Amino acid sequence: MSAAPQAAGDHPLHVQLPYDMRPRAGKAIGDVQLQQFVGSATSGKDRGRRQIFAETFGERADEIRRLAGAIKQHTLDHLDWYLDRFIDAAEKAGVLVHLASTAEQANAICVRLAKERGCKLCVKSKSMVTEETELVPRLEAAGIETVETDLGEFIIQLDHDAPSHIVTPMIHKDRTAVGRAFARELGVPYTDDPLKLARIARDHLRQKYRKADLGISGANFLIAETGSIVLCTNEGNGRFCTSAPSTHIAIAGIEKLVPRMEHLGVMLKVLARSATAQPLTCYTHIITGPRGHDTGEHDGPTSLHLILLDNGRTEILREETRELLRCIRCGACLNACPVYRKVGGHSYGSVYSGPIGAVITPLLKGLENYPDLPQATPLCGACHEACPVKIDLPKQLIGLRRRMAERGVTSLWERLGYRAWGLSLRWGWSYRLAASVQRWVLRRLASRAGSPAGGDRIVSRGWLSRGPGPLAGWTSQRDFPTPTATSFREWWKARGGQT
Ligand code: SF4
Repeated sequence: MSAAPQAAGDHPLHVQLPYDMRPRAGKAIGDVQLQQFVGSATSGKDRGRRQIFAETFGERADEIRRLAGAIKQHTLDHLDWYLDRFIDAAEKAGVLVHLASTAEQANAICVRLAKERGCKLCVKSKSMVTEETELVPRLEAAGIETVETDLGEFIIQLDHDAPSHIVTPMIHKDRTAVGRAFARELGVPYTDDPLKLARIARDHLRQKYRKADLGISGANFLIAETGSIVLCTNEGNGRFCTSAPSTHIAIAGIEKLVPRMEHLGVMLKVLARSATAQPLTCYTHIITGPRGHDTGEHDGPTSLHLILLDNGRTEILREETRELLRCIRCGACLNACPVYRKVGGHSYGSVYSGPIGAVITPLLKGLENYPDLPQATPLCGACHEACPVKIDLPKQLIGLRRRMAERGVTSLWERLGYRAWGLSLRWGWSYRLAASVQRWVLRRLASRAGSPAGGDRIVSRGWLSRGPGPLAGWTSQRDFPTPTATSFREWWKARGGQT
């Protein structure tokens, strides 16, 4: 998974529905290289995020996150009004705005526009929403060569692979994999020197920028007041894609709006710090309309289109899930999540991975199709703590689990297990009884360790290494501590403590 290119038909995002996450997650856990790449990259980014927030904002770090969350929440609470304002302003600036209800419609509009203009070569900057709509295969099928220009996405494209992280798509690869991909696909001598690799990519992409007649981008933010499209990149490729070709098509989810320019400052501050621990991304483009003929501008596209995409977002806009649309796709929750760190992005079987992916994928694509994802989290709260717009992801995950139970998506055993657990926690006596039974069973297993029948169910110092029944899933990955002879309550009571 970590280094080899994907074979055709083995694309990480082409999964069978309903998606069973376990085989892929199990494979990822056993992949030592993947563990190293993803583990070190995510922990480094998570550390960097904490550090830069503390250095810049000190004790007021939480305040700016609250402010960013409030800006987005306010916009979402009045989304119809801000959408109207934005469309008016964008059209006044010369942008042709198109509305798409579904991914299929968005792709169809894009292909139609490209064909009407006779476009043959498209340069594209990184955009999660176009991954969501699977735009590139549609353009290619329509005979329009499409080149990803973000370095990570470019490498992913050469390998016929799929991004495994919202911000750093090739987090699961290292430079030797890049060197091999370049040698194989671009016919250059193998090197794993990062500078040489960057130069090869630059030379290759410059040729494409010169010849391209279509540029496609996403949008990090849309400003309702001015009708502007905001793009944040670190490589400058966004600038080339949106200014060199004669036609620029931007695609954005309807949730990308912020009311005014003054709000953009807040969002940019939290986005770059949360995504890559930078004070600001290297390039921030604020695009307001195409090239101005009246003002004698020499650069920029002669026609600029924006496709505003719904694709399930208005469904998420209902009150109980609305906060999810505050997401600015910074990836901080992925970096903080202990599950993402172990299983990597492809295990989620979807463009959006990590805690945010575990919630929005089932909402966008059907809970029945992704029943494992809401369970793929320990509910530790690290994602909530990391989120720059304060989305309560654990609460949302629990909400999805509740919906699964209500719709009968969970298995009978799971429902019975949760029912029994719930009952045991309802009264003091039932809790004590359940705890005693559990302790007795586990200690019995431990005591059988010494007997021939006990075999290797237990390792030394009171750790179960191979549990029976449902516990086997747990102990296949880690040992389980056997309980002490006396519970804490008994120990406490024996010392005269109140219970
Ligand atoms: S949910 Fe929050 S932390 Fe996760 S990607 Fe979205 S904004 Fe970033």
